[in-house]
Parts: sequence; C-alpha cells; structure tokens
Amino acid sequence: MPTIDPADYLIVALDVPDLESAARLVDELRPTVKWFKLGSELLMAIGAPAAVQVVKERGGQVFLDAKFHDIPATMAGAVKAASFWGVEMLTVHSSASWASLTAAVRNAGQAKVIGVTVLTSFSDAECMLNYRGSVAEKVPWFAAVAWAAGLQGVVCAARDLKILAAHPRVNSLLKIVPGIRPTWAARNDQERSSTPAEALALGADYLVVGRPITRPPVGIGRPAEAAKLVLDEMAVAGGGPGGGS
Ligand code: C5P
Repeated sequence: MPTIDPADYLIVALDVPDLESAARLVDELRPTVKWFKLGSELLMAIGAPAAVQVVKERGGQVFLDAKFHDIPATMAGAVKAASFWGVEMLTVHSSASWASLTAAVRNAGQAKVIGVTVLTSFSDAECMLNYRGSVAEKVPWFAAVAWAAGLQGVVCAARDLKILAAHPRVNSLLKIVPGIRPTWAARNDQERSSTPAEALALGADYLVVGRPITRPPVGIGRPAEAAKLVLDEMAVAGGGPGGGS
C-alpha cells in the first residue's frame, strides 16, 4: 500500500495582516507544510496576486479562500481572475445561486471549486437565523447543490461529515474541514471543532488549521513545531483520507 504523506492533506490558514508575516510563516513552515489557505484578511491587506505569489515562490500550493458570493457575471469574472494566478483550489459560498455556482465552475480553469456549506463558527441557532434551517438540514442541502452544480468539493465541520455520510450522492465531493483543534489548542471562535484524528476518522480529505499552528499556545513552541505535532497526529490516525481503513 502506498505511504500516505499527511502533509498532502494539511492546509495551514495564513490569517495574518501583512506580507512580512505571511512570508515569515511560509518560510518557517515550508517544506514541511505544502498547502496554504489565503483568506479575506491577507487578501484585503496585500491583494490576491501578492498573496498567491508569497506561497507560490516558496513552492507551496494555494487554497484561495475568498468565499465568493455574487451575481453570476461577477462570480465568473472573479473566479477567472483567481484561476489566472494558478491557485489549486478556491472557495465560493454554496448559498450563492445556482447560476452563480455554475458560472464559477465554467470559469475556474485548472482550479477546483469548493463550496462552503455552513461556516464552522455557526451554532445551530445561528444557522437557523441565517438559513432558516438547522446545521443538520442545511449542510446536506448546500452539499447537494454544490454537487449538482459541478463543484469538486465542500467545506464543512468534521461533525457535519456524519450527516453527509447519509447522503451518498455527495460522496464524490472532496471534504475540506476547518475548525480543527488539537487537544492542546484553544477553541477560539470555532463552535463546531474537532481534533485532527477525529476529522480524519470521520472522512475528511483535507484539514484546515489556522491559529493552533500560526499562533500556537505557550508551551507548544514555534509554528513549525505546532505543525509537526498536527502532522504527527494525522500520521498516527492513518495520514490522510482513507489512511486508517
Ligand atoms: O484559526 P482557525 O483554525 O480557526 O482558522 C480556520 C480557517 O478556516 C479560517 O481562515 C476561517 O476563515 C476558515 N473557515 C472556517 N469555517 C468555514 C470555512 C472556512 O473556519 N466553514
């Protein structure tokens, strides 16, 4: 059986406010970490092309987490521009319209389009308030919409994977799971968090980890040491998708 390298399935969220901090983190985490997630904070601070360049010129792969949610024409233009910069994956909100999601897929080029289902910071009450349905209702609904529109994956919490397992139609989608908290990390604002091992056991394909690695608690050490701890936990759990089975 081929060996699974956990680094192929770990995405570190570069939620930092400036180019220097981003470059410092990527320098420190490469080559152990291969994937980096660029989110609104850094994209707004330094611009998407510069943010992508910080990762690409250091040999990393980019998960562009811009969470596009717009009318079809704007969605098409934004996704086309992102794909021009050579990002490997990019996110849209699955709650954007059908026309917007299909416009994203048509304009993504080589990039995989990943649909955010329900933010992992949402409690059931917040989900009800925003989407008029519980997390258990809305996650499979948004995943089904993503699948039908031709997206390649979804973002959801680890515990939502149990809900999705009952919907075999969406099995083929990549499951990208943020809200990951090793036992040694603070939960911060994540309402529906899981450990790396739990998320892999539930069927996650990629784990997104931000603050536990970029701002590790005192006693854990530097970001590189925190990343190593997460990768070790993933390795013990089988390494990556299907690794434990
Ligand atoms: O620091 P932390 O590990 O909580 O970072 C999680 C990252 O994943 C953040 O960049 C956040 O925007 C993103 N994310 C999330 N929940 C989603 C989609 C993306 O937490 N549903």
